[in-house]
Amino acid sequence: MRRLRRSESMRALVRETTLEPGDLIYPLFLCPGEGVRREVGSMPGVFQLSIDEAVREAEGAAALGIGGLLFFGLPESKDEEGTGAWDQNGIVQQGLRAIKNSTAAKKLVLIADVCLCEYTSHGHCGIIAETAEGWTVKNDPTLDLLAKTGASLALAGADVIAPSDMMDGRVGAIRTALDIAGCEDTPILSYASKFASAFYGPFREAADSAPQFGDRKSYQMDGANIREAMREIDLDLGEGTDMILMKPAMPYLDVIRAARERVDVPIGAYQVSGEYSMLQAAFAKGWLDRDRAILESLLGIRRAGADFAVTYFAKDAAKLLA
Ligand SMILES: [Zn+2]
Repeated sequence: MRRLRRSESMRALVRETTLEPGDLIYPLFLCPGEGVRREVGSMPGVFQLSIDEAVREAEGAAALGIGGLLFFGLPESKDEEGTGAWDQNGIVQQGLRAIKNSTAAKKLVLIADVCLCEYTSHGHCGIIAETAEGWTVKNDPTLDLLAKTGASLALAGADVIAPSDMMDGRVGAIRTALDIAGCEDTPILSYASKFASAFYGPFREAADSAPQFGDRKSYQMDGANIREAMREIDLDLGEGTDMILMKPAMPYLDVIRAARERVDVPIGAYQVSGEYSMLQAAFAKGWLDRDRAILESLLGIRRAGADFAVTYFAKDAAKLLA
């Protein structure tokens, strides 16, 4: 076996998996204001950005050859229903319009996350109802709000709509709303299997979306279940999703592999905030070789079967790959 490992040119010739800047999607957190660049404490190198700063960031990403951007919003104010999510002048809608008008937009796929948790005062991904046992997130009434949100983001300029809420039936509801709004050419990237994970912790600081009570285990998936993940994917495909996103990545690489062997639609995987933060912490301690660990973590996601990776390391990785 060692004959084929003797030089870098030989290793490059027989390499099975590639990683390119175009395979990477860079998440951005949009906030109100001007000239705002607020670093997220638990995610060094990740910032909440006002729209003018986000445009600059988008142009940088485009210059590095990154494939696309994924948008999250921090609204001015929140309420019970999350009305900021589908407001035509909502923070992400404004950001999409600004970036769509920049030179960066021609080189980047602009993906809008669809969920309510950044916009609801209680921080859950849907409408809350009181029950005898306490509370529940109501499924079907939430679908109408998600559908409105998806259409609003597409009309504002999103190239792809990416629902992350994990309500049942949301892909179908969003597809219908997109078609009615005249956005029949806008594809859906559904977070088809999204597990209830401890690795989302730092994101909740970045997006200010921590649930004020309870947890998300009644809608996000149980980490023990791979067959259930396949059912989620089948259902989303049946409802018309064009691509699927798996989340988190590293603790669930076997689920990505299983999906790859089962379906032929493009698959993305999200290297989530906790995966990023623990690597950053190790780099800060000098415990891991930063450059090699970044590329190895992303190559693993590609080798598992993902076509593209959403990652906070997108810019770092693109520079290393240049
Ligand atoms: Zn959510």
